[in-house]
This record gives sequence, C-alpha cells and structure tokens, in this order.
Amino acid sequence: MPLIDPKLMEILVCPDCHGDLEEWEAQQRLVCQKCGKRYPVRDGIPVMLIEEAELPPPSGEPQAQS
Ligand SMILES: [Zn+2]
Repeated sequence: MPLIDPKLMEILVCPDCHGDLEEWEAQQRLVCQKCGKRYPVRDGIPVMLIEEAELPPPSGEPQAQS
C-alpha cells in the first residue's frame, strides 16, 4: 500500500525547489531529492507547505548516527 496515490505522486514536486519527491513510508514523509526538505503526510494527504516542512540536517554532518 503506497503512502499516497502514485498518480498524485507523479505530479507532486517540492514547492520550494520543484525537485522530485521520494516516499519515506515508515516515516510518513515525502522527501525532496534536491533540497532534502521533508513534507509530512497526514491521512494519505501530503502537506506540501514549506512552513510545514522539516529541514534536512546541516550538510557536513554524518547522515547515519549508528
Ligand atoms: Zn526541494
């Protein structure tokens, strides 16, 4: 079961940089491949608002903590 409708996924882009989005099913997030912003998905509806987006960790820090 995809997080959101694949047809919807095709037309969605990052509202900030217009980059492609990737689904993070476990985290219920859509992640921009370009700028790294993470948009929450609530009840199957992606919240494509820059104000609601989580910012990626600052570059230069290790991606994995383990
Ligand atoms: Zn972006």
